Amino acid sequence: MMEFQPHAMPNNTGWIEVIAGCMFSGKTEELIRRLRRAKIAKQNVKIFKPKIDIRYSVGDIVSHSEQSMPSILVENAKEILDYVENAQVIGIDEAQFFNSELIEICNKLANDGKRVIVAGLDMDYRGIPFEPMPQLLAVAEYITKTLAICVNCGNPADKTQRKIVSSERVLVGAADSYEARCRKCHYIPE
Ligand code: ZN
Repeated sequence: MMEFQPHAMPNNTGWIEVIAGCMFSGKTEELIRRLRRAKIAKQNVKIFKPKIDIRYSVGDIVSHSEQSMPSILVENAKEILDYVENAQVIGIDEAQFFNSELIEICNKLANDGKRVIVAGLDMDYRGIPFEPMPQLLAVAEYITKTLAICVNCGNPADKTQRKIVSSERVLVGAADSYEARCRKCHYIPE
């Protein structure tokens, strides 16, 4: 995996980093790793996630491997602006649960000189791009696509396989109902 690891502080400019991938690909771990390094460097770090993501804990971002960091729960992307006046680095997890307003907010934060790191699911269980991730990938300076390992065949996997039949786009709090699959092994349950 090509990986960009920004070390510099934003200096009269900000930027957007996007970490995109399927479930179980380590997106949140990668987000936490970058934010933790910024904290160690005594940078002012603020972390946000949408209120819909209640799968493990309230007020923490938590990866499947149970690394966590305290985060601020927001109803919508605009609310992020209320907390970031002094922030240098802004982390946003589960970006696919925000609406398209998130694109404008991330651009504004980066234009204001902040480093913005956004993690999210790039496709839904059908393999359809999950807004606003495609648009965020387009406006970001740096993109990381995290791959999982196909549970079925061991190939690199970028699809989230739903194991139960449901036409809901999102099943919150149901990590057990999913697994990572490669292109060849992924199918839409019906
Ligand atoms: Zn496979």
